[in-house]
Amino acid sequence: MAERLFVLTGAGVSAESGLPTFRGSGGLWNGYRVDQVATPEAWEDDPELVWRFYSMRRRDALAAQPNAAHFALASMERALGERFYLCTQNVDDLHERAGSDRVRHMHGSLFASRCVVCNRPFADLAFYETALPHCGKCDALIRPHIVWFGEMPLYLDEIYRELELATRLLVVGTSGSVYPAAGFVKTARQSGVRTVYVGPEEPLNVSAFDEVMLGTATEILPRLV
Ligand SMILES: [Zn+2]
Repeated sequence: MAERLFVLTGAGVSAESGLPTFRGSGGLWNGYRVDQVATPEAWEDDPELVWRFYSMRRRDALAAQPNAAHFALASMERALGERFYLCTQNVDDLHERAGSDRVRHMHGSLFASRCVVCNRPFADLAFYETALPHCGKCDALIRPHIVWFGEMPLYLDEIYRELELATRLLVVGTSGSVYPAAGFVKTARQSGVRTVYVGPEEPLNVSAFDEVMLGTATEILPRLV
């Protein structure tokens, strides 16, 4: 049977391009706590603060550059074509800027927004640091197209279908603590998929992997191409 590769990338891959993570800094992101800026309750309480935070993250992501791990995954996609599937927990666009064409952002995208009523995502590179954006059609608030803690990730049906079709699951730079992504390994293994982990330290769900390659994604992925 032809190899079919499912790749899941997490914050570690973006961190190597200089983008911070909540986990890497004691649960704080430039002084913001998760529950202040990345939950539906935070949005209800203080949408201005939430938009200042995501505007700052847009600026940071625009200034960052894709790294060797992003480029390695883009080459794998070119080699495998339809037999390659990239699912990322990251909301930046570094995979796309490295040349990946078919990326599924299960936690949403930093460069998209949506009206809280109309609900249709659209590309958005604006910064909302002084005034809140409103929908041109219905005047409701525009929110970041980000899956916050407590919200349902995107593309789950498609993701589980692809997991079943895969022959190999490669998990890169994710701590194994955020569900449902952390559970993909178990699902994959149950359907006979070979599971491989790449990251600088053992993930929390290490026992679910057939193979663990310790090292940074930028060291290891170029060698796997
Ligand atoms: Zn609207």
